[in-house]
This record gives sequence, C-alpha cells and structure tokens, in this order.
Amino acid sequence: MVRGVHRPTVATIDLGAIKSNIKTIRSNIKEHKKLLAVVKADGYGHGAIPIANAAKEAGVDGFCVAILDEAIELRDSGFTEDFLLVMGVTELRDVALMADLNISATAASTEWLKDALPLLKLRKTTNPLRIHLAVDTGMGRIGLRTNEEILAFEEFCNEHEELHLEGIFTHFATADGEDDRQVERQYATFKEQVASLKQRPEIVHLANSAMTLWHEDFETDAVRVGIAMYGYNPSDKTIQLPYPLKPALTLETELSYVKQMHKGDTISYGARYRAYEGEWLATLPIGYADGWRRDLGGQTLLVEGHRCPVRGVICMDQCMISLPKEFPIGTKVTLLGENNGEINNPSDMAVEIGTIGYEILCGISGRVPRNYV
Ligand code: PLP
Repeated sequence: MVRGVHRPTVATIDLGAIKSNIKTIRSNIKEHKKLLAVVKADGYGHGAIPIANAAKEAGVDGFCVAILDEAIELRDSGFTEDFLLVMGVTELRDVALMADLNISATAASTEWLKDALPLLKLRKTTNPLRIHLAVDTGMGRIGLRTNEEILAFEEFCNEHEELHLEGIFTHFATADGEDDRQVERQYATFKEQVASLKQRPEIVHLANSAMTLWHEDFETDAVRVGIAMYGYNPSDKTIQLPYPLKPALTLETELSYVKQMHKGDTISYGARYRAYEGEWLATLPIGYADGWRRDLGGQTLLVEGHRCPVRGVICMDQCMISLPKEFPIGTKVTLLGENNGEINNPSDMAVEIGTIGYEILCGISGRVPRNYV
C-alpha cells in the first residue's frame, strides 16, 4: 500500500494521550491485575509498534493481538521478551514457530492440542507452547463450554511437556450495554469453569475495555484493554465513561480546491446535491479509499471551528464540503479530533451511521500516513 506522503491528509497520534490513558486505567484497577495492551489491527489504526512502545513506556505488562503475524511484527520490532498473546485460533502449522518465539497461543479445543502435539516436536527450542484456554460463556465465538471438556483439556496439557497451560479466559458479549444480566450470567459461568480446573492457571482473564471500565470488581488476574487505551468509549454513547480518557487520534487534511457555486449546480456522482446561489464549496483530498466511508456523507467536518456539511457522495479519493464563506486553499480541515474548540469524535459519528467507533478508527487505511507527537 502506497502511503500518501505528498498530500496533506494525515492521522496524528498523540502518544502522550495513550500513556496518560494507561496511567488512568492502571490507577483505577486493582494493583495485582496485569494490564495487557491490545494492539491488534495495527493498534486499532493507530500503528501497532509506536503504540506498543508508548504502552511499554507507560508500564503495561504485555500485549494481545488477534493473529500470529501481528505477534511476529512485535517480536521482530524488539519486543522480544514481552508477554504476547494471540487471541484468535492459530493455524496448526505455526505452533512450533509460536513456541520458539515464546508467543502464547489461544486454544479452544482438545482436538487442536492433539493435532498440535506432533507439530510441536519440530520446534527448535525446548520452549513449551504457552496455552490460554478460551472458554465460551455466552459470546458464541470460540471456546469450550462444559466443565467436562475443560477438565479433559487440562488433563491433556498436564500429560504433555510440550504444552503449558498458562491461562484461561473468556470474552463478554454485552459489557458495553446498560443491561448487566448477561454479564452476570457469563461471569457466574466463568467462575464455575475456572473452579472446575484441578489447578488454577497463572493468568485468569476476562476483561476487555468495557469490563475494565464498568466491572472492575470482577475477580481477574489481567485486563485486556484496547479501545479505552486509545481514548474512546467502548459503548460509544450508551454508557458514560467512569473517568475521563483522552482520544489519541486526529485525522486532518486541507482544502485542495475552493469555488463559488451557482444555484442548481450539481455536486459529485449521481448529481444528487444541488448548490444554492453563491454557496462556497471546497474539495478535500480524502475519500473512501482512505477509510472515509461513503456513509459518513451526513457528517460535518471542521474548518476554523465551523461545522461544514459534506455535499454530494464521498468519492474514492476526494470529497466536497460546504463552507460558510471563502477560505483559502490549504486551510486545515479536521475530520476527527479538535478544531478551534469544536470536536469530532468517532463515537458520535458511529452512532449516527449505525456502526461503532472502533470501525471508523480501524478503517483509516494504510494510504493515510500516521504522524506521532
Ligand atoms: N479481548 C478480546 C478477546 C477481544 O477480541 C478484544 C477486541 O475485540 C479485546 C479483548 C479488546 O477489546 P476492547 O477494544 O473493547 O478493549
């Protein structure tokens, strides 16, 4: 993917905000809990390696990613000793590599362990494969469900020196909602599942950001924090944050073309928008190929503190906005973040277009350069 360094469209990430959020979260969780930074999907679009470096400086205890390649990227970038968990199920062919790189693997069935065993013989080190057993308490995604299955899984691990059962974890489906009933049910199931093990593994964990923010009282050894570390509310607008977080990402561009329209002049594909007489219109060098999705066409973008509506459909590489008056080419436009006291937060936009803030952040494409301050 080509990075567009010759145009003014840039995402700026405030690493100070990341560190400050980590410190805030740390001070609001019990002291014994490990804080694991979730840096999958290129750090939710913020850049996995710079975020991991900042998080490490702020004192996190390790990292979680979704796929093995993301873990290898961290190991290759100097995170050689850090605790590193791949939360998805990894291809069997890579288990020896995982053991050699000391990366913790998620396992969700005893069959997977059985199939992994002969392949682990091919590893170059004597490292056992560090296993985190995923249990399904109501997310319905991955994980064992019955106590019998869990016990058999534990026994299998204990019988083979190539395997080390390091952790057990679950994931909550509704922790970002107002109704706690499913959360309570899942927690009760999880406690029972953990209790069914003969020996409690070293790291029992269950909390994503929502659980960390709103259910801190739940017993756990580690929290896996993603969106809150980046400064955003996992519920978007459903539940208020219990303490303030600082959004880390600003997405900006500049006016690349400015003109005054006549009544009825049409704008963009489909000619669906017709200008009013004298309307000032600006073109911006950002479009849906940059992650500025077509369904964000109902949003306002910020120019010198003015809320400027998008006009016409968003194109692949450009979009148009209405200005309250003429502004010079090169004037800054803020798509996400603060501009003269006005703020565009991805959570607000997400609610309006029927998605979640995560998707807007992760959707900012690799064509947009990331700058760090
Ligand atoms: N744990 C698991 C298993 C996840 O899949 C995710 C993200 O989707 C997280 C933790 C982090 O979630 P959040 O960004 O809401 O903190």
